[in-house]
Amino acid sequence: MRYLVTGGAGFIGSNLIKRLLEEKHSIICIDNFSSGNRLNISNFLTHPEFKLIDHDITQVIDIETDGIWHLACPASPKYYGRNPIETSKINFIGTYNLLELARKNKSPIIFASTSEIYGNPEVHPQNEIYNGSVNTNDSRSCYKEGKRIAESLCFDYKRIHNMNIKIARIFNTYGPNMMPDDGRVISNFVTSAILKKPLFVNGDGNQTRSFCYVEDLIDALILLFNSSTNDPINLGNPKEEYSINQIAEKIIKKVNSNSKIQNINIKLDEPLRRKPCIKKAKLLLNWEPKYTIDIGLDYTIKYLRKIINNE
Ligand code: UDP
Repeated sequence: MRYLVTGGAGFIGSNLIKRLLEEKHSIICIDNFSSGNRLNISNFLTHPEFKLIDHDITQVIDIETDGIWHLACPASPKYYGRNPIETSKINFIGTYNLLELARKNKSPIIFASTSEIYGNPEVHPQNEIYNGSVNTNDSRSCYKEGKRIAESLCFDYKRIHNMNIKIARIFNTYGPNMMPDDGRVISNFVTSAILKKPLFVNGDGNQTRSFCYVEDLIDALILLFNSSTNDPINLGNPKEEYSINQIAEKIIKKVNSNSKIQNINIKLDEPLRRKPCIKKAKLLLNWEPKYTIDIGLDYTIKYLRKIINNE
């Protein structure tokens, strides 16, 4: 198949392209490198079935494709917080452009949505019928409300044009190709532990996240894309829920570092507990994560050591 992947130089996009190339597909990767990393796609540049287009998806693009994997959007609070208006534009105008392209090509499209659409959830774990507890006016609103309007567009295109549209609600994911300075908790903590710097825990550190290894997520995205369902599906690892304090301690131990944990008292515009209910993914995709946090962290630490030490 000739696939288009938006955000292909990002953390998840580049892991997805690696797998799709292994599966013998042709890939057109679109990225404008606002938060993507050229290093993530450097190995693909000489691949005969890989083509890179440096393009901002808020501008219209015309490409022939058999399927669209729409992942483009800064995903770390550090990045979208720097550019909130652009983040809203990418989600609304960018997703609109990609849905129009899918319509023109009569192709399927999968949209990378997020657990952030549930906001600071009042139910735990979060299942797909929960409508969320979301706020239009905080530092994360551009991302969570952006993803919500993008989902809403997807549902309307499906209803009005009867298109094949998949929505993956992706929970916290980690693994190789995260940038050491991307601002997310696993990459920040592993990098600090390797460099023997303090690990800064926001707030009291009792907030939780559930961590899914990227290879598991890629399996799920491919299963979802090839499935017959058009329901939104949670993708994440409910077995690996930890407080941020626990994850800091675990990483210091695994890296064998003498770094110390420092709590910073800041106001958190963020969910205090997050864990996916993945019953739907199990039922409809026959998927559940295989990687434990211990194994996933080992691979991630190995990768980040290599990047940090320039090996
Ligand atoms: N966090 C932290 N120190 C860091 C980076 C993140 O304490 O250096 C916390 C952050 O406040 C949040 C959790 O770790 O409670 C997960 O943050 P991340 O940005 O990885 O994901 P998200 O908050 O979007 O789920």
